[in-house]
Amino acid sequence: MAGVAWHYVLKFIITGDAAVGKSSLLVRLTDQRFLANPDPTLGVEFGSKLITIPEENKVVKLQCWDTAGTESFRSITRSYYRGAAGCLLVYDVTSRQSFVDARSWLTDVREHADPHLTCILVGNKIDLCIEDGAHSAPGKRRREVSTDEAELWAKQEGLLFVEASAKSGQNVEAAFEQATRDILDKIRRGV
Ligand code: GDP
Repeated sequence: MAGVAWHYVLKFIITGDAAVGKSSLLVRLTDQRFLANPDPTLGVEFGSKLITIPEENKVVKLQCWDTAGTESFRSITRSYYRGAAGCLLVYDVTSRQSFVDARSWLTDVREHADPHLTCILVGNKIDLCIEDGAHSAPGKRRREVSTDEAELWAKQEGLLFVEASAKSGQNVEAAFEQATRDILDKIRRGV
């Protein structure tokens, strides 16, 4: 791969309810850090990251756009979706409502984005969950969406699925990698 800066540039969009952790996932991916109290008015809107998919021998530049600030008036412009190859559809595992709302975010994506877009459902904030059978602990919350339920819905909708934490970093890069592998596979198959 010597001499090659990257083989592909892929546009990703990150969507889902306000406060599920979209900006935090983007900051974690591009900056390897976590902000406990990000300023919501200064939501990160764009981040870029090089990732390597070793088995494909490919370097991919991800250009990721966050829906910062657009949740409240959901008329997101078409330019936001245009050219996107991948989408992270994010909910918070401790918020049932954010999982319910993921359905309408998916409807938006399907209306506006390319039909071949690869979408990965991301259950964020798993670091917050109280373990099964454990008593409550400071700073922890009850999980409101089970892994099984989310996995089943993702399967029904043809979405990839992962649970992650922008706080600990668990599965954040893996989520983008999983989606990227799927996109490269589609490119190879000419889809
Ligand atoms: P956005 O509105 O979807 O972009 O959400 P933000 O990234 O602004 O995050 C909303 C709040 O949730 C902030 O206080 C974050 O620090 C917090 N947060 C985001 N991701 C996580 C996570 O994985 N774990 C925990 N414990 N908090 C998170």
